[in-house]
Amino acid sequence: MGEGPRNPERFNTFIAALILATGPAFCLDDSFHGARERMLADQIQARGINNAGVLRAMASVRREFFVPDEFRAEAYSDGALPIGWGQTISQPFIVALMTQLLEPASDHRVLEIGTGSGYQAAILSTLVKEIDSVEVVAELGHSATERLRKLGYANVLVRIGDGYLGWPEKAPFDRIILTASPPEIPPVLIEQLKPGGRLVAPVGIGMQELTVLDKAKNGKTTIRSVLPVRFVPMKRATVP
Ligand code: SAH
Repeated sequence: MGEGPRNPERFNTFIAALILATGPAFCLDDSFHGARERMLADQIQARGINNAGVLRAMASVRREFFVPDEFRAEAYSDGALPIGWGQTISQPFIVALMTQLLEPASDHRVLEIGTGSGYQAAILSTLVKEIDSVEVVAELGHSATERLRKLGYANVLVRIGDGYLGWPEKAPFDRIILTASPPEIPPVLIEQLKPGGRLVAPVGIGMQELTVLDKAKNGKTTIRSVLPVRFVPMKRATVP
């Protein structure tokens, strides 16, 4: 006789319940659990991120699955990492900060420009109703789609296209997040934001500012800068 559970059927039910209770990213072998907890304490909470939903999201999404194999050991380090095609997955703190600045709610529909690895989308996936994400590099978009599907982040839709055009068929959005930096906020994206909505983006060439744009109910927009950041530039795939 082996050492298996005495009642295999009940054991399987227990595992199924555990998976349901802990969400799609559950896996028995979570060797990065400690690294993720340290990231949360030292990089995220220590720097003032206090939104409970954001902290839960950062604690649950397994960043090691979003970085290339050769960088897996550094998945929870305090910086951006290369994901190929000259692009990067953002520093965990910046992902957390931008997510907190978005003030996400469970009924929100969010547009993301710059899917990249899909990590930011996965974080948002746990907090909002739907994410529509546009990626200009087809290979990145396809691999992010596959990764998000495998990990069970079912409310993220990725489209290959030019983020400067937004996603008109899906507009308007409650929130918009840009993870590549345009020289200035594209007016088309402001148009695709609902009145009462918010857009968070790195803005500028070279020296960039993390910027929050609020669109009031009457359509009037206000802008504030939060902090200097360094993102990859938003590419121009089409001439506006
Ligand atoms: N959110 C990503 C970070 C990606 S880095 C993550 O969590 O991993 C920025 C991404 O923006 C890159 O993948 C880049 O290819 C993409 N990008 C750059 N210019 C773009 C454009 N005009 N439209 C859509 N995506 C763009």
